[in-house]
Amino acid sequence: MTPADAAELLAHCAAFDRRTIGEADARAWARALHDVPLDDDLLDSVAEHYAHTDKWITVAQVREMRARIRVGRIDAAHPVYDGNPDETGEQFVARRQAQLTAAAEGSLPARTITQAISAARPRDVRALVAGVGRTVEPAEPRPYIDPTTRAELRASLPNQRAALVELTVACPNELCRAAVSRWCKSSRGAELRTTVHGRRRDAYATEHTTCPECGAPPRQNCTTTEPHPARIRAAVLEVAA
Ligand SMILES: [Zn+2]
Ligand SMILES: [Zn+2]
Repeated sequence: MTPADAAELLAHCAAFDRRTIGEADARAWARALHDVPLDDDLLDSVAEHYAHTDKWITVAQVREMRARIRVGRIDAAHPVYDGNPDETGEQFVARRQAQLTAAAEGSLPARTITQAISAARPRDVRALVAGVGRTVEPAEPRPYIDPTTRAELRASLPNQRAALVELTVACPNELCRAAVSRWCKSSRGAELRTTVHGRRRDAYATEHTTCPECGAPPRQNCTTTEPHPARIRAAVLEVAA
């Protein structure tokens, strides 16, 4: 803020407290508020102060009140920076700061707490970093039972959730890591209620089925890195039985 800005701010204060303003006051306030712009938030701070007290407002109070107004807006917006695993630390800091400034200005739409929490997913970001250089499964796993068969299967079972027997094992997919009896989640965080990730399907087959091809008993891996398709089919047939 320039001394001219400070003079304007002090004139605004004088409207409430009838103070007289000299050039020295304007220079002193400008120096103390050198990093604060003369904006609506600043003028609102003065109005807010005099709504509660007759005491003359100080530089420190102007600064504090303006900060409080802006933090209140940030809190209301719950800004969440989703992050980008490819960005540098500097880019992260700059983008996060830009977002907080936008929130303080009131130009970010407010988000609910739930949105803010479900958008955070720091675990996903860690998983992405850990998965660099590895093959990653498609975010939306293809159903290994066609939807019609799945629907018939489900209708014949007393408990809907029992149709996804794979929920009895945790999902090993790095981007998901759904715990036992939790739905798998897509890369956007949506619950997948009709299917699971391929690796969870494999984990379930390994856990519960003897492989018809290589003879590996339950809880023992096939001789190949992935379970034999016959073992996965056997696991599915067991559910249908
Ligand atoms: Zn999963
Ligand atoms: Zn096998």
